[in-house]
Amino acid sequence: MRGYGGKFVKIDLTKSKVLVEDTPMDLMKSFIGGKWLGAYILYKYLDPKISPLSPGNILFVTSGPATGTPIPMSSKISFFFKSPLTGIFGESTMGGNFPAAFKWVGLDGLMITGRSEKPVYLYITPDEIEIRDADHLWGLDTEKTEEVLISDLGREIEIAEIGPAGEKLIRFASISHGHGSRMRESKAGRVGGGAVMGSKNLKAIVLHPHEKKVDVYDVDRVKELSREFISRAVKEPSKSGIKGYREYGTPITVAIAHGDSAFPNHFWENVETPYYEDLDPDLLKEKYYKKRLSCWNCPYSCGKYSIVEEDDIFKGIEVKGPEYETIFSFGGNADLTDYKAIISLNLLCDRYGVDTIDMGNIIAFTLYAVEKGRIKLDRPVKFGDYESILYLFQLTMERRGIGDVMAEGMKIMAKRLGLEDIAIHVKGLTLAGYDPRRLKGMALSYAIGTRGGGHLRTTSYAYEFKRIIKPEDTGPEKVKFLVDIEDLFSLHDSMIFCRFARFVYDWEFTIEILNALTGFNYEYKWLKEQANYVRTIIRWFNLNAGMKPEEDTLPPRFFKEGGRKLDGTEVRITREELRSMVKEYYRLRGWDEDGYPRERIML
Ligand code: SF4
Repeated sequence: MRGYGGKFVKIDLTKSKVLVEDTPMDLMKSFIGGKWLGAYILYKYLDPKISPLSPGNILFVTSGPATGTPIPMSSKISFFFKSPLTGIFGESTMGGNFPAAFKWVGLDGLMITGRSEKPVYLYITPDEIEIRDADHLWGLDTEKTEEVLISDLGREIEIAEIGPAGEKLIRFASISHGHGSRMRESKAGRVGGGAVMGSKNLKAIVLHPHEKKVDVYDVDRVKELSREFISRAVKEPSKSGIKGYREYGTPITVAIAHGDSAFPNHFWENVETPYYEDLDPDLLKEKYYKKRLSCWNCPYSCGKYSIVEEDDIFKGIEVKGPEYETIFSFGGNADLTDYKAIISLNLLCDRYGVDTIDMGNIIAFTLYAVEKGRIKLDRPVKFGDYESILYLFQLTMERRGIGDVMAEGMKIMAKRLGLEDIAIHVKGLTLAGYDPRRLKGMALSYAIGTRGGGHLRTTSYAYEFKRIIKPEDTGPEKVKFLVDIEDLFSLHDSMIFCRFARFVYDWEFTIEILNALTGFNYEYKWLKEQANYVRTIIRWFNLNAGMKPEEDTLPPRFFKEGGRKLDGTEVRITREELRSMVKEYYRLRGWDEDGYPRERIML
């Protein structure tokens, strides 16, 4: 099937019906897979006004033509749905082994609708698809769920599951994979896919491939291009990122962001941390890292397995991580200065199945509201105190007391408690660890992101840290650069490539690979136009879902307060600076001055 598995499966959980169809190759030719296909499916088949936790929401799972092939850093799969956290386009990507196995069982698309009467899981092999009873799994954490399924079905399976957070419909619950002994942990972490699975009473998706094989158009060329990737990555290891990721993983960013005054601290009051010595990535590497881990077929191996060996309450805790974003949200924003405590919270988030970025941000927000005297809790809590943070985490997981509103995400929480003036999110999604007052490309990226304030649509920070673009610049050339990066990444998200391969897979190399996999002879001009078309489809989906262009902005605190450096000076951004970038972005996308595309799209 030239880069594809051959099957498109529709499952209606209300009716317990499974429909297996041939992959529509005309559609794949136009929309490739991953993001482009997900945008098409949601726009064409999903009522944008639907309640995200109702049975009518679609959970669409899809890989891309590179997934499961020898092309490095392509074991990625994406989940699409209307997000219960943001109310707009929901997209979340997972790595590990599950994505490759998705292709190896012959799938290109899996569209799940409805709600099962009782808990179920899907069992998928190349020959059969079954909806199976999951009563015995409901209530188990992610690690235990995998343990039970592996013991029942054997070690050859790959699993994507939800934990108790997804079952309790916590709006930032993630979809998890590879926990415990598998040591391949990866999450579709953001925008609440776990809650969508929970709302469907779907505990897990289990894949059982028989062989690790995908048909491609030009086998020899694909092998050649895979080797070419390695030689490009190794030739310039710092530029490609392979050196930093292999040695430190993502935590190297603590040093870079802090050193560049972009590391959020004390719930976005500061842009440098007074506790840098405690959060130094060298400390993490020397004391806790025990081995390197990777997704299937990845030479970068950014994953690190950490074990706490010191003789205290954290002794014996093991986790894949912590990633930079977890260190930022708990260590930066909530001022936790002990890596052991961060590792412990990382493990708890993984077991319950919640996004660490949202969880850390929401806890820090609560601590901040208490500190400012805006809310009162039953017991004292404070920044930097593990017991306080653990207490708020537990309340959220149990939906108890203030935890019930914390579980709704920052946007709803801020609205219900009258805290909108101090909340930090864009369209309901909390921000990642890159301060937009310092990195103004990130300001634009957060403001116009397809799924709210995410950091991955352009990863502008990576280009700003390397001074490929200037952090303080807000001019039209920078916006043009970021639009081009967003388009390239949109194609990567359809292949699907890991974002960390961004400095190796340029347009030309990506197109060569795409053509060797599919034989479709794509050209740059068409792909670039299609990327813009897909961006516009998602814009329409979001506008039809109720999003207003006025929401293409940053939280008010960023315009009112500067981000403080340790020397007392500040970094700032103005409304006018951001507005001029957003307007230029609209213009380059071909939308009108107010952010509306000029023509309706009918699919
Ligand atoms: S760089 Fe990390 S996240 Fe990306 S494919 Fe490799 S191991 Fe997975």
